[in-house]
Amino acid sequence: MLRKTDPDMIKGYLEDSSNLQGGYAEGAYLPENDKEILEAVKECSSKKTPLTISGAGTGTTGGRIPFGGWVLSTEKLNQIIAIDKKAKTALIQPGVSLDQLDNALKKEGLMYAPDPTEKSAYLGGNVATNASGARSLRMGPTRNHIKRLKVILSTGEILSLTRSRPLELPRLKSSAGYYSTPDMEQIDLFIGSEGTLGIVSEIEVNLIDRIENTFDCIVFLDSEEAAIDLTEKLREREDILMIEYFDFNSIELLGKGKKCAIYFEQKIVDDNYLELEGETWVGMNEKQKEELWEFRHSMPEHINEEFKKHHTVKFASDIAVPDSKFREMFAFYNLVLSTYDLQLFYVKFGHIGQSHLHVNLVPRTQADIPLAKELIMKFVKKAVSLGGTVSAEHGIGKIKHDYLREMYGDSGIAGMIQIKKGFDPGLILNIGNVFPLKQLSGNSAF
Ligand SMILES: Cc1cc2nc3c(=O)[nH]c(=O)nc-3n(C[C@H](O)[C@H](O)[C@H](O)COP(=O)(O)OP(=O)(O)OC[C@H]3O[C@@H](n4cnc5c(N)ncnc54)[C@H](O)[C@@H]3O)c2cc1C
Repeated sequence: MLRKTDPDMIKGYLEDSSNLQGGYAEGAYLPENDKEILEAVKECSSKKTPLTISGAGTGTTGGRIPFGGWVLSTEKLNQIIAIDKKAKTALIQPGVSLDQLDNALKKEGLMYAPDPTEKSAYLGGNVATNASGARSLRMGPTRNHIKRLKVILSTGEILSLTRSRPLELPRLKSSAGYYSTPDMEQIDLFIGSEGTLGIVSEIEVNLIDRIENTFDCIVFLDSEEAAIDLTEKLREREDILMIEYFDFNSIELLGKGKKCAIYFEQKIVDDNYLELEGETWVGMNEKQKEELWEFRHSMPEHINEEFKKHHTVKFASDIAVPDSKFREMFAFYNLVLSTYDLQLFYVKFGHIGQSHLHVNLVPRTQADIPLAKELIMKFVKKAVSLGGTVSAEHGIGKIKHDYLREMYGDSGIAGMIQIKKGFDPGLILNIGNVFPLKQLSGNSAF
């Protein structure tokens, strides 16, 4: 098995999209099959060496960043093993990217329905974070599309976990902590567990016929009230596949001077066109749709430029609340943000169709960093009080432990730690993800 120990060769594994600093590792394993994964696991288990699993590094919570020990990169586990056109399934290794899978499926007229925005992400990373996309409004998150997983535990045991019945769409999308429902299947414990329970080494996904006949539309509106009204109207219609929101600051970053915008995708069925008020941009063909998509996808990059400009860091929320509570949450964001807009630049954007917005705060000076942290915690507490989730799609990773505790309390977290200890008794896998080390090892005051 290929191993890297040269610091220059491993520095790429010490970062992701979170900007979390300080990661370090002794080396990286690059396995090409299960036998080599087992070799890495056995070496680390026998010496109690932490092992951190690395996907493409597009995660936003420091999940793949190691703080000691070795990295297990899945980059060479990048084979699409089989596509079964009749059964509409694909068997893939965890290092296959969304783009790679989509290119292969295009030729067959099929698609993998979840569409997280970042196409260079690997399927293994998507499974570990239970990633969602804009179309999750109708299709559900990654979890709903995983048929079978092969998982290698730190004990060397190999599990083959198959879903026996389809899962209903969640009422609230969430990637916060371990999945738990009364009649759940074991496969669902592993999906969204952020690599803390085992290494996903093979994935069987369900596919659907390619959705071709759609158009995209961006409507620029004069008030946020009008945007929420339009969202509620669109959500009622089954032919609407996604509904996204951009606030004033986000569209200004993209060079458009309107109050806010709604971006939606609609299936074309006979004459089901909507009557819309306000300026609209419509993408009917592939080229136009790509231009609109680029408009949306460039948002995180523009924000990253903004915080580099201020030499500070970005604080990002990933909160969703039940639809019935969205207006209250939205009003709360506005109340808090308008109080502090001299100290913080902010944007509110994202998956409004699922009552899920990313509020990103960029402190204007270093001195305002504590304020940004305080405000995100205010949002978290409010969301929890409304029955919402502290992470709708990105996971907890190494930077959102306090938020998870707000959501589940000490006893909920203690229950999750018991599960972690059951599957990873040596406590070597993805240490620091979901729970801080001190809680795991029982040294915390909680
Ligand atoms: C511009 C941009 C847009 C984004 N848009 C979205 C979006 O729309 N929706 C969304 O949900 N996310 C989004 N993300 C976040 C990110 O793409 C997802 O979290 C993605 O699932 C991470 O995949 P990755 O391969 O990059 O994983 P990494 O960042 O490498 O790792 C993420 C986590 O998964 C674990 N992991 C990786 N592979 C395995 C494996 N084989 N077994 C067990 N654990 C594993 C890692 O240890 C880590 O904890 C976006 C990110 C960016 C930068």
